[in-house]
Amino acid sequence: MWNWAGNIGFQAEEVCFPASLDEVRSLAARGSKVRVLGSGHSFNDIADTPGSLISLAKLPSTAEIDTTASTVKVDASVRYAELSRWLHDKGYALPNLASLPHISVAGSIATATHGSGDGNGNLATAVSALELVTAGGDVVSLSRDRDGDRFNGAVVGLGALGIVVSVTLDVMPTFEVRQRVYEGLPLEVLDDHFSEVVSGAYSVSLFTTWRDARIDQVWVKQRVVGEDPMPEDWFGARPADGPRHPVPGMSAVACTEQLGVPGPWFERLPHFRPDFAPSSSGDELQSEFLLPRRHAVDALHAVNEIRDRVAAVLQVCEVRTVAADDLWMSTAYGQDTVALHFTWVKDTDAVRPVIQLLEERLAPFGARPHWGKLFTTPADVLRSLYPRLPDFHALARHYDPNGTFTNDFLARHLFVELD
Ligand SMILES: Cc1cc2nc3c(=O)[nH]c(=O)nc-3n(C[C@H](O)[C@H](O)[C@H](O)COP(=O)(O)OP(=O)(O)OC[C@H]3O[C@@H](n4cnc5c(N)ncnc54)[C@H](O)[C@@H]3O)c2cc1C
Repeated sequence: MWNWAGNIGFQAEEVCFPASLDEVRSLAARGSKVRVLGSGHSFNDIADTPGSLISLAKLPSTAEIDTTASTVKVDASVRYAELSRWLHDKGYALPNLASLPHISVAGSIATATHGSGDGNGNLATAVSALELVTAGGDVVSLSRDRDGDRFNGAVVGLGALGIVVSVTLDVMPTFEVRQRVYEGLPLEVLDDHFSEVVSGAYSVSLFTTWRDARIDQVWVKQRVVGEDPMPEDWFGARPADGPRHPVPGMSAVACTEQLGVPGPWFERLPHFRPDFAPSSSGDELQSEFLLPRRHAVDALHAVNEIRDRVAAVLQVCEVRTVAADDLWMSTAYGQDTVALHFTWVKDTDAVRPVIQLLEERLAPFGARPHWGKLFTTPADVLRSLYPRLPDFHALARHYDPNGTFTNDFLARHLFVELD
């Protein structure tokens, strides 16, 4: 069994499809190694285990809206694509989405998956409660209101605390978005105007191939109500004359509607349409490094210095912003963040040295790697980047004293010298 990109073959000796909560509880309580697989979109071995890989796809699906609390409680394996359409039909929206809506809710929040927008936290910040089955087979409920700090430790859980079976998310009234792509933003404009550009709309993404000192495309996602229409000339960039794919020259057929046509939030906030797989489906690798917003311009200069090396193995680089949060293992923990994302060609051997070079250049800025993507950041560096890591380890051991959910990924990157 393989992940979406086909670069990770899972080592698990069995894949289980429990059909009831009781079956999940008995799998967790067997005492052997267990790990949940979401939709398998991570690019590293974070989801792997030598024991039993569990898919929750056969559990009964649930979605209950609490109109008083403005929340929806869903089963953990639901994908944003299905959930978003259902919510919109009921008159609700989620605050933000990632570029691809085909990923599962529990898998996304476990890795601090994010979209873009100065005022938008990552997807895990929308979680107000979760239920998990711990190593003894107990069902534990944690909520933002009741469990405070412990809840903040559990949400971006990296699969280490147990099997998340349901998630409660904040919702808001549904809204319309219009999306426009601008082309040809000179890189130097960002030296003085980075904040103005990224705060120019509800969600802004900058794309470059690093073949020259230029942002090829800026994807601007505005709420139809409350945001002024964009100018024609925007810091020297011009509106594209047709729909675009983030990778220049690729067909835009799988991309969400552009050209300023208003439409529902879930058909504009992601870059890829919920009813299409992205056209580079599986034919790519990804890395992403998230660092304090105040270092954004210096970090872009650092990448520009090595752009020939980067461009040689790159499909496209995306720059996004994420609001600070309090979730212990979140890549935006404690700091407004800029995220530098790299979609690589699918050649691990060619890409690895460039990832290492990038990590070296971005280290002075305190770059945290995305948990679900490729990185080589050493464990001691990760420890310095996550002040609550010892608390997270203690929380994991509280719910999982024997390491049922610990896998090679956690042992190698996070729990070194802590176990
Ligand atoms: C084409 C593409 C586009 C992407 N775009 C973005 C983007 O815009 N922004 C971004 O931040 N990331 C992005 N990603 C990365 C992706 O969001 C993360 O890898 C995310 O974790 C994928 O969710 P998943 O359900 O596939 O998780 P998986 O890869 O299946 O699992 C991830 C982790 O979650 C754990 N997990 C899953 N379900 C549960 C559960 N029920 N209980 C406990 N633990 C669980 C797994 O054990 C594992 O540790 C993208 C990936 C791809 C392939």
